[in-house]
Amino acid sequence: MHKPKFIFVTGGVMSGLGKGVITSSIAKLLQLCNLKVSCMKIDPYLNVDAGTMNPLIHGEVFVTNDGGECDMDIGNYERFLGIDLSKENNITTGQIYASVIEKERKGEYLGECVQIIPHITNEIKNRIINLANKEALDVLVVECGGTVGDMESLPFLEAMRQIKFEGHDTLFIHVTLAPILDVVGEVKTKPTQHSVQELRRIGIQPDIIAVRSKIALDDNVKRKIALFANVDNSAVISSHDAPSIYKVPEILYEQNIINIFAKRFNNLQFNWGYWKDITDRFDKIDKELKIAMVGKYVKLSDSYVSINHALEHAALDIDYKVKIDRIDAEKLERDKDLSLLNNYDGILVPGGFGKRGSEGIISAADYAREHDIPYLGICFGFQLAIVAFARNVCNLEHANSTELDNPKDPVVDLLPDQKAINKLGGTMRLGAHEISIIKDTFAHKLYNTDIIIRRHRHRYEFNQEYKRLFEKNGMIFSAFSDNGRRAEILELKNHPYYFAVQYHAEFSSKFGKPEEAFLAFVKAAAGLSTNC
Ligand code: GLN
Repeated sequence: MHKPKFIFVTGGVMSGLGKGVITSSIAKLLQLCNLKVSCMKIDPYLNVDAGTMNPLIHGEVFVTNDGGECDMDIGNYERFLGIDLSKENNITTGQIYASVIEKERKGEYLGECVQIIPHITNEIKNRIINLANKEALDVLVVECGGTVGDMESLPFLEAMRQIKFEGHDTLFIHVTLAPILDVVGEVKTKPTQHSVQELRRIGIQPDIIAVRSKIALDDNVKRKIALFANVDNSAVISSHDAPSIYKVPEILYEQNIINIFAKRFNNLQFNWGYWKDITDRFDKIDKELKIAMVGKYVKLSDSYVSINHALEHAALDIDYKVKIDRIDAEKLERDKDLSLLNNYDGILVPGGFGKRGSEGIISAADYAREHDIPYLGICFGFQLAIVAFARNVCNLEHANSTELDNPKDPVVDLLPDQKAINKLGGTMRLGAHEISIIKDTFAHKLYNTDIIIRRHRHRYEFNQEYKRLFEKNGMIFSAFSDNGRRAEILELKNHPYYFAVQYHAEFSSKFGKPEEAFLAFVKAAAGLSTNC
C-alpha cells in the first residue's frame, strides 16, 4: 500500500521568521526529486478561517479554488509548487474544535468524556493523514504556525508526536533564529538551544535545525548548535537572507539537505529543471519598473502579498525587477494632488473594502485613464474604475458603489444573493468560477481562449442596468460569468493598458508562470507591446 511520508516544520524563538518560505522550499526540492508533494498549514488560532481577520495585522487572505479563505502561506506553497491547493490544506484550532463539538452534540462519542487528548489530537491527526492519503502523496510537508512554547500550538505538536509514535515515516524540521549582536558582531546560538530544549520537553526531537540568520552560519556555529540540539553537524542548515525568496531552495540544496531526505526517504533523483533557469535570470536583471499600488491597507506589505508576487513573476518574464510603492489612498484623497503618480510606470489598485480611502482610489483610476498610465484594477480596483468612469465620462455625477454610499446612481451594487446574508465569515462570493471571454476583445487576445477560471472574493458587482450607457461611452465589458449575469473584465480602447478584473488574478500567478493580465500590465508599464 502507498504510504505517505510526513515532514513537520515547527518554529522556535519568534514568529515572522519565514517558516512558510522554508516549508515551501523544502517541498519544492522534494518535488524536484519527482515526488508527489503537497503542503499543509496549521494555524493555532480560534478563528475558523482567515476570512474575518484584519489584513493589516495578519496579512492577506488567500483564496483557494474551492473558496477557502486561507492563511497567506497557502499562497506561497502554490507559487513554489505550481499547484492549486484546497481549503483542506489549512487547518485552524477553530475548525478542529468546531468539528469535535459538533460530533459531541450528535452523540458520536458514545458517552465518553471528550478531551484534548485523544479527541482533539485524533481530529488533527485524521485531517493530516487523510489529506496525504486522499491525494496519494509521497510527502506531505506540514507547517505548524506559531512558536514552540505557545499554549495554542500544543495539541498540534502532540498530534505530530503521535503520528511519529504510531510508526509513520516522519521528519521534523525546527526553524529558529540566530541573531547577531550588533556591538560584537557575534552570532548567538542560545535562543536556538532553548527552543530545541522546549521542543524536546514535549517529546519531539528535531531531525534538522534550519537556522534563519542575516549571514551564512560558519561551521563552528553549526557544530555548537548540533551539539546542543542533538543532531548531526550536517543537519544544521543555514537559512540566511536571500535576494529573493525563490533563491531559498538553492541555499538549502547547497548544504546537501537532499542527502538527509535521501537517507530517510530512499533514493532521490534530483533535477533542477526549469526552476534554476528562472532564478539564474533573476541575478542578471538590471532594469526596474516602478509601480504605484494605491490602496487602503498599505502599511503592511503582506496585506497584498500575492499581488507583490504576481508582479514579480510577470516582471521576471520580461527581465525586469519591480519596485512597488504602496500609496495610501486616504492621503491622495486628502491632498487632492495626484501628480506623484506621474513618477510611476503603472498604477495598480488591489482589492479592498469600505469607504475609507475610496475617493482617493477613484481619483487614481481617473488619473491613470486621463494620463495614459497603464492601469490594472483588481476587484475593488475594478469596481472603483467603474465609479470613476461613470462620474467623469458618463456624466453620472452621483454615481457610486452601494458599499460606500447610498448613491443616486448605484453603478456597483450588492450581488442579489448577498442581500439576505447577515453573517460575515465565509459568506462572500468565493473561489473559482468559470468566466466566458467575448471574442474580438483585448481580453480574448490576452488570454487566447474563450473560458478562464479565476478566483473571487466579493459581495458587490457591476450593476448591468448601466451597461449600455457605459458601452456608448467607450467602456468594453469583455468577460462575464454565471451566464452573463456578472461582469468580470473591463477594458478601454485607445489607452496603453486600462484593464480591470472583478476576479483576483493575483491568486493564479505561479513562479515561472505569470498570470496573463499581470504580464500584459508589466509589458505596458515597460513600454513593450502587449502582443494584442
Ligand atoms: N469590497 C468589494 C466587494 O465586497 C471588493 C472586495 C475585494 O476587493 N476583494 O465586492
